[in-house]
Amino acid sequence: MSSNPRNAPFGSILSDTMAIATYRNGAWSAMELRKTGPLEIHPAAHALHYGSTCFEGFKAYRHADGSVHIFRMARHIERMRRSAEALILPEPDPQLLASMVTTLIDRVRADVPEAPGALYLRPLLFGTMANIGAAATPSTEACLVVLASPVWDYFAGGIRPLKILVEEQAQRCAPHLGMVKTGGNYAAAMGPTLAARKAYGIDQVLFCPGGEVQETGASNFLLIRPGHILTRSLDPSFLHGVTRDSLLTLARDLGYRVEERVFSVDEMMDWVHTGEAALSGTAAVLSGVGTLVRNGNEHPVADGHVGPETLKLRAALVAIQQGTAPDSHGWLTRV
Ligand SMILES: *Cc1c(COP(=O)(O)O)cnc(C)c1O
Repeated sequence: MSSNPRNAPFGSILSDTMAIATYRNGAWSAMELRKTGPLEIHPAAHALHYGSTCFEGFKAYRHADGSVHIFRMARHIERMRRSAEALILPEPDPQLLASMVTTLIDRVRADVPEAPGALYLRPLLFGTMANIGAAATPSTEACLVVLASPVWDYFAGGIRPLKILVEEQAQRCAPHLGMVKTGGNYAAAMGPTLAARKAYGIDQVLFCPGGEVQETGASNFLLIRPGHILTRSLDPSFLHGVTRDSLLTLARDLGYRVEERVFSVDEMMDWVHTGEAALSGTAAVLSGVGTLVRNGNEHPVADGHVGPETLKLRAALVAIQQGTAPDSHGWLTRV
């Protein structure tokens, strides 16, 4: 790790050890730890041509007593298995992947920053079968890697309200793959997002194909007001965030009415006259939206600042992750 990394952009610093396993002849190899660095990959590899690749992202936190805890690892492993299934890739064995994660964290334990930092874990699975005629044939070989990246405060300079473009035409990705964390989905959202950044100076695009609110390029979307949350109900068209699930669970514990259903852009625009809006995900936890840009017009969300309900729910989740509130749902795995 380089010196003075605290100002580094999210994900740009990697621990010097990674975990790796390979799949061939119908079986996973044992895992091994290796120095983080280039892999030898055949230029005919399936993933490079036909996009057979998926990943995960979650965090391990250092508590005040120095112990290290992974947040909802089993849930992320299960989601990666569902991504692999959707892409017809070999599904990672859950025990193998869990041991890759915990063995790696144990090796790089000194890299786990103190709160509000964390160690971000990035499992990656990709098809390695060398065959350029396999556009409609699944890869029978695969590589599974786990990278670790120490991350500090995602919002250097404090929590700032986000500016979001409401996109009612373009879709983020193919609707049947929205719930899969696969590389091509991010490539697909990149063009519209960069174009909107250039045109409107926004942070993210909120995809609302057909006028139904969905999610942004890498975060789920929640409408929040005192005692009430509205968010889209789960369907294959968008990513089923673990942060979303955790926040909804905590909100129910706190007595909020949690409404999960399809809702329209018009309903959202009504809501934000007085209510709050926020993005949820592992990296950003829960980030308040200050402005929505629709048809070139800027609409403030409530008073344009990050709202008190957003801050309260964010603090409730962060307290469990950082070990300052009881882990009553059994979400932490001690390493
Ligand atoms: C990863 C991701 C999320 C957030 O998922 P978490 O499990 O909460 O980190 C939301 N949307 C997209 C498109 C994502 O890739």
